[in-house]
Amino acid sequence: MQDIRKISLQELTAFLQTQNEPAFRAKQIYDWIWQKNVHSFEEMTNVSKKLRQILKQHFYFNTLNIHQDFTSEDGTIKFIFQLYDGKKVEGVLIPTQKRMTACISSQVGCSLDCSFCATGKMKLQRNLESAEIVDQVVHIQNRALQTYQRPLTNIVFMGMGEPLLNYSNVVQAYRHITAPQEMGLSTKRLTISTAGIAKGIKRLADDEVKAKLALSLHAPTDEKRNKIMSINEQNNLEVLYEALQYYYSKMKQYITFEYVMLKDFNDTLEDAKALVKWSRKIPCKVNLIEYNDTGSFKGSLPEQISAFEQYLLQHDIPTSIRRSRGKDINAACGQLLIQDKTTPLKK
Ligand code: SAH
Repeated sequence: MQDIRKISLQELTAFLQTQNEPAFRAKQIYDWIWQKNVHSFEEMTNVSKKLRQILKQHFYFNTLNIHQDFTSEDGTIKFIFQLYDGKKVEGVLIPTQKRMTACISSQVGCSLDCSFCATGKMKLQRNLESAEIVDQVVHIQNRALQTYQRPLTNIVFMGMGEPLLNYSNVVQAYRHITAPQEMGLSTKRLTISTAGIAKGIKRLADDEVKAKLALSLHAPTDEKRNKIMSINEQNNLEVLYEALQYYYSKMKQYITFEYVMLKDFNDTLEDAKALVKWSRKIPCKVNLIEYNDTGSFKGSLPEQISAFEQYLLQHDIPTSIRRSRGKDINAACGQLLIQDKTTPLKK
């Protein structure tokens, strides 16, 4: 028995040949799986009962299901998804006037330990499979249509986990989500956010992954970045800069720098100056993020965030502020944490 969503169209075609079925059947079945996103063979109504029976004897679906959901007073909906092995991850639907954004997870837990992020307190349990990533999008899309009568406009890999440390499955999911024959979302509407894995950034360029790239920068010097993100020890600013230049030279896409505003840590004029210097090196946009309380820091005051934004704008760095959403249900950036018996916390 095999998970049908782990095999390619070619492999499916080869299997059907052994059953004396024509190649177009494989395409039909593949469409049910990746375009119509069904989770059972019974739903494949243009496939004969006999063939459905054969498929059932050889394959199964490992699905991701909604375990619980919570709606924030601002309309944000947080989902706790349950995986086939009982593990759980979170995803979030963020409705705004202009956009319907799905924030999805790439791993159960996270191996990084960024000091301001709650997910970092969970151990990494496993990578999500590409079908589990796609299923999150399908569930969130269905809810967006059901509750807000609007389809998703954007998908961001900003839930649990580090997408570039689950590279193959994330890129495969990206391909299913954006292939015109499958879900068909525009590549530009998908954003991969990374804490800064230089090798992974280069690999995205080599594989011509056209999703947008966001880098969780959060500090403009190695000295400060080392203090809050231990990943900076192997992927320091110089190494990241080199990877981003490589990325830009191939992809010609600007990069978004995410910068969480931490009071008296990275929000001074000196920090703004250093950030401007760094941002001039590469075509980019800066996204200032309001800190969501996870217990370890204090967020910058609103006037400090505005002053910081103004300074960057005055120095010609495109800058915007990302307002926090879904805080009341712990759905905001960095607040995703599942605590139960199956998810041990790091010491
Ligand atoms: N591992 C990836 C993607 C997940 S995090 C990454 O690091 O980019 C999504 C974004 O939320 C990142 O920019 C992350 O740094 C930010 N974030 C983490 N904790 C936060 C917090 N407490 N408040 C605000 N943003 C936070």
